[in-house]
Amino acid sequence: ASLGTGCDLGEDHEKQYVGFATLPNQVHRKSVKKGFDFTLMVAGESGLGKSTLVNSLFLTDLYKDRKLLNAEERINQTVEIVKHTVDIEEKGVKLKLTIVDTPGFGDAVNNTECWKPITDYIDQQFEQYFRDESGLNRKNIQDNRVHCCLYFISPFGHGLRPVDVEFMKALHEKVNIVPLIAKADCLIPSEIRKLKERIREEIDKFGIKVYQFPECDSDEDEEFKQQDRELKESAPFAVIGSNTVVEAKGQRVRGRLYPWGIVEGKCSAWKLAL
Ligand code: GDP
Repeated sequence: ASLGTGCDLGEDHEKQYVGFATLPNQVHRKSVKKGFDFTLMVAGESGLGKSTLVNSLFLTDLYKDRKLLNAEERINQTVEIVKHTVDIEEKGVKLKLTIVDTPGFGDAVNNTECWKPITDYIDQQFEQYFRDESGLNRKNIQDNRVHCCLYFISPFGHGLRPVDVEFMKALHEKVNIVPLIAKADCLIPSEIRKLKERIREEIDKFGIKVYQFPECDSDEDEEFKQQDRELKESAPFAVIGSNTVVEAKGQRVRGRLYPWGIVEGKCSAWKLAL
């Protein structure tokens, strides 16, 4: 028999139980029914594989009608904010995914303050949410705040470029920044290790606050703790975006095909984090 405040009518009547022990189920049912909103921003100079990675992360084609600019057009291009929204469903759980893209960022010859339209956009979303929350009808507020920003760092440099430092410093108080080393297949493992170390040092030196994984509970099992440690140690993640579905060991997987072999994407691009 239950010791709670609910009236337990025995096992046959499990469904009629009305105590607070059903609270987790109610919360679960409600959130699944409502679905989740997630807004992800991607930033970094063009050609670093942002669209490819987003498509491989969510297994959709979010950039169907993208227009690529030529070099001449890019010289005068200002930073734009473009939103792509898609509804995804996985095992009955709905996600309204919004990808906020920042074409033109870091592409100009003079990149002074090119992060300004991006910080303005983030601030506007906070203000809008604050206004909606202070209003009368708070039931159906559309949350457009940016939850996370994937920042792509070029694999071809010796660490962070000045524009990377400026961007992250301008945004680190407003959004969770996850720095990524783009196109990691262009580097060999020792180069990746060196670049990661350099980036970590520079992040420290410039006082940039990147997203920190939450502490894992002390009562978690050892395997989980180990996984958590490895994940924290491997930041900034080195990523590879998949552009095709390839046949590997008799299975069809998303990956990249090279003359010398295949990089497998397992089930998501995160698994490719080195
Ligand atoms: P974006 O401008 O940052 O959105 O870059 P795209 O996603 O359009 O990618 C630009 C080019 O880089 C395309 O030809 C992609 O196929 C290629 N690419 C994307 N991701 C990777 C990667 O992880 N490794 C390599 N080697 N090439 C990539």
